[in-house]
Amino acid sequence: MKILAPKENDPIETRAALDPAAVKKLVGLGAEVVVESGTGSRCDHPDAAYAEAGAAVVEDRAAALASADLVVRVRKPSPEEIGRLKPGAVHISFLDPFNEKELLAAFATQGVSAISLEMVPRTTLAQKMDAISSQANLAGYVAVILAADRMGTILPMMMTPAGTISPAKVFVLGIGVAGLQAIATAKRLGARVTAFDVRPEALEQAESLGAKALRIDLGETGGTAQGYAKELTPEQLETQRAAQAKVCAESDVVITTAKVFGRKPPVLIQAGVVAGMKPGSVVVDLAAETGGNVEGVVPGEETVTANGVRLIGLANYEGRVAKHATQVLAANFANMIEHFWDKEAKTFRIDPADEIQKGCLLTHGGAVVHERFR
Ligand code: NAD
Repeated sequence: MKILAPKENDPIETRAALDPAAVKKLVGLGAEVVVESGTGSRCDHPDAAYAEAGAAVVEDRAAALASADLVVRVRKPSPEEIGRLKPGAVHISFLDPFNEKELLAAFATQGVSAISLEMVPRTTLAQKMDAISSQANLAGYVAVILAADRMGTILPMMMTPAGTISPAKVFVLGIGVAGLQAIATAKRLGARVTAFDVRPEALEQAESLGAKALRIDLGETGGTAQGYAKELTPEQLETQRAAQAKVCAESDVVITTAKVFGRKPPVLIQAGVVAGMKPGSVVVDLAAETGGNVEGVVPGEETVTANGVRLIGLANYEGRVAKHATQVLAANFANMIEHFWDKEAKTFRIDPADEIQKGCLLTHGGAVVHERFR
């Protein structure tokens, strides 16, 4: 079985789907691994390192796509590149499936089995393949480091002969994987952290990391079987916004990570609240790429408001630590391939009845097979 990692073609993408360690593992399974030249150029893995790990490094992308049995890549492909794939091939990547109906149709038409990394179930068994978590964890870390770099103040308390510097106040909104890492990182750097999430169990997790939990009585908030939050009612959202406004006004850093699976992220901080924040404070919106939690944030950009608040709405935060993001993402790919590897046939097994594949296999045998997207 020929496994291909093509070079990412979005200029914003610094990560690669495979690193040399993952190549080694896949070669060990008996796979033939092909890497397009330059795949690791932005995450510090030169072609030679892939070759040394056992991959064939190729220049001809079109030929590589046409001959691959399994393609692994970070970003979704264009419909045109789907058209180059071999019918019967398997394709694994982030796919943004809730917004990419046409892409799914293109996979089905081409007879390619498409697996979406976003849809890998949040179960113990699938944890080792959970790329959403492996990347969100790093994004949470980057959010704090970025804020620390942009501030004119420091995070820890310092007692010096010239006086005492108070610790920074950091407010983390949304305590999922990214939020927890943001809390842990800000605490390590000495900040005073407050956090809020609509899920009560998340508040307890924040407290166990040393953060102060902001408790807001929203009534019933519910959640999905997978542990995801449900969308709040407009009234609940209003209550939340009002309760948060004071914390934002007092904070030096606000990091928002709130998402609702399969929907646009909720707007949690409105322009009026930003206008009430201190000059020099920094807002990092980790949901910016998909619509944003903060009014006024420009996706992909860093701007400063009239009252001196810096709004950071970058995309691909984890791509700023590309080598480590690639390390864990490549491990997710390799673990998934190993999990479904048929040792005798030396192929990747497609099994629509399998619990994990039931969650993340979107197209197979010429059709959209996932019940949510059919
Ligand atoms: P996510 O990125 O979808 O959302 C981030 C956070 O935003 C979540 O904690 C969510 O509750 C929160 N949120 C939603 N609406 C909000 C609002 N109005 N205000 C404040 N916060 C709001 O979440 P995630 O990081 O992917 O994690 C989702 C869940 O999945 C968590 O319960 C996590 O523990 C769980 N999880 C389980 C596994 C596993 O079992 N293998 C792996 C990873 C995550």
